[in-house]
Amino acid sequence: MRQAVILAGGLGTRLAARLGDLPKALVDVDGEPLLGRQLRLLQAHGFTDVLLLVNHRKEAIEAFLRQVPFAGLRVEVIEDGEARGTAGAVMAAGAHLSERFLVVYGDTLLDVDLTAFWEAHLAAGAEGTLFLHPNDHPHDSDLVAIDEARRVRAFLPKPHPAGSYRRNLVNAALYVLEKRLVMAYRPGPGLSDFGADLFPALLKAGHSLHAYVSFEYIKDIGTPERLDRAVGDLRSGKVARARLDVPQQAVFLDRDGTLNHDSGHIARTEDLLLLPGVPAAVRALNRHEFRCIVVTNQPVLARGEASAADMEQIHARLETLLGQEGAYLDALYLCPHHPDAGFAGEVAALKIRCACRKPGTGMIDRARHDFRIDPTRSWIVGDRTADIEAGRRSGLTTILLQTGAGGGDRHCDVIPDFEVADLPEAAWLITQGHGALLALLAPVLDRVNAGALVTISGQGRAGKSLVGALLRLGLRQRGRGAVSLSLDRWLKAESARPAAGTVEDRYDLSAATTCLAPWLDGGTLEARLPVYDRIARAPVASANHVRIEAEDVLLLDGVIAHRLAAPGRPRLRLFVRVDEAERVARLEKEYITFRGMDRAAFDALYRARVDDEIPLVDAARATSDWCVDLSAMTLEGMP
Ligand SMILES: [Zn+2]
Repeated sequence: MRQAVILAGGLGTRLAARLGDLPKALVDVDGEPLLGRQLRLLQAHGFTDVLLLVNHRKEAIEAFLRQVPFAGLRVEVIEDGEARGTAGAVMAAGAHLSERFLVVYGDTLLDVDLTAFWEAHLAAGAEGTLFLHPNDHPHDSDLVAIDEARRVRAFLPKPHPAGSYRRNLVNAALYVLEKRLVMAYRPGPGLSDFGADLFPALLKAGHSLHAYVSFEYIKDIGTPERLDRAVGDLRSGKVARARLDVPQQAVFLDRDGTLNHDSGHIARTEDLLLLPGVPAAVRALNRHEFRCIVVTNQPVLARGEASAADMEQIHARLETLLGQEGAYLDALYLCPHHPDAGFAGEVAALKIRCACRKPGTGMIDRARHDFRIDPTRSWIVGDRTADIEAGRRSGLTTILLQTGAGGGDRHCDVIPDFEVADLPEAAWLITQGHGALLALLAPVLDRVNAGALVTISGQGRAGKSLVGALLRLGLRQRGRGAVSLSLDRWLKAESARPAAGTVEDRYDLSAATTCLAPWLDGGTLEARLPVYDRIARAPVASANHVRIEAEDVLLLDGVIAHRLAAPGRPRLRLFVRVDEAERVARLEKEYITFRGMDRAAFDALYRARVDDEIPLVDAARATSDWCVDLSAMTLEGMP
């Protein structure tokens, strides 16, 4: 026998207009009474007995149950008539309770794997297990603090003191309880609620409560607005997509330099400062149903510079700052290890070579298991090559940012799938850009021959490398080999350019031709490509190893990319343009925000670049087969 208690005592005053003559439990949710939906879910998860606690209209509910039988489910309706609060109502029905039971609130729409929830309770050997989840308004929600072992530590009712930092975990009102736990509670006078009274009192009395954190759909539909939203979620498939047995799409997020300013190793709470636009970016990912999962190397723990409690506070601040703007994280995994000994105050046990420190994939592996993540629909965003390498090893699509380390570290020999300025641009690419642009570029993808050289020209920061990266992704999705490279790898050091030089003088085109010659001549290329450091404005000693098969498509972007000669290769020329205001904004971000150039110097550079580039760019446009306009989202060219 497996018992569930449904708390359906509410009068449904706020839903009165939707109920007509019906009790609240029978409110219509997209063509089916809510109670019917709940009973079907219980039935599907092997529940045999349901105790339905109501305060009025018992006969209407019994009439419904006679009309719609639920095979294998014994439903007992108990009308109390007394307002006792949620815990009070369950205690009053004590004589009917099994040793262990599930509690469902009668005004929640849920599609939760109740078997997994029940089994987690058993596996933890808990007296009570609470279903918790993050939400998009933690500042005005009652929060629950838990520890690493998933034990509930405290109940933190709203309002939250100004300046306090708390993890974003909310009681979703779904529990598995042992009867002995409930009966151990001695209620005071008046109403007794689980969240406000019984759980906090039992916690205080030394009882242990287990936390079950999940992204599955469970929402209160007690007002017309919430009901309409839930119906919308049902119809759009959002409810079904959040099921535990459905593979999930995720965005793995690095922390320092991606979400927050990378101000060395953060050991104090106040040092965590979000980068511009980060909450809105995470919120967009949330709304597009990407599980947002932070994976962060925190060697400060191994070095003894911060304790686990310090780190918990830092992450409480991170989640509080995000939550204030309606954004939340689904999970956060951290690697506390560090391989090199020799720091004063270090923690010996954490001084190990582990599998979780990025570029290791240990944290991603755990999340993939915990969330059933489909890597082919998932992404990683970070500012370091270790993030990109960890993502590449895990089969994720990778995005390197210019924030933080600026991709300037060369720790790992890896080329990201995309390189964008910051998390807001990455979130746009993930949620909208890549789908829309792949659709836009479909006619080009149809026309690219195997072994073709596709050169992509346009002004600086017009989006050439974005188009190259998307074409590469599109070709790979069609099962075709493709490599995307930027001619910027062959930029000359600032000091090696002639004083009054033109765009062409900035590039070492002959070096590029020599390097790529084996492939340009029709063969396979195995080479070490130069790396240009945009911050230092000079080539650096390290290199990226690359292999281009003879039949691969090479996508090469650069202002003068069309100039590259490849007599032995089929050829396609693309031109990319964007509205000047958008291009200027990107240039400003690169030169002023990331490189610290002052406004006057930027204006001078901008004017010089425009004068210098225009004739070349016009010529490139005239010889192009296709023109992609990234502002208008149009493609013009070959019939
Ligand atoms: Zn580790």
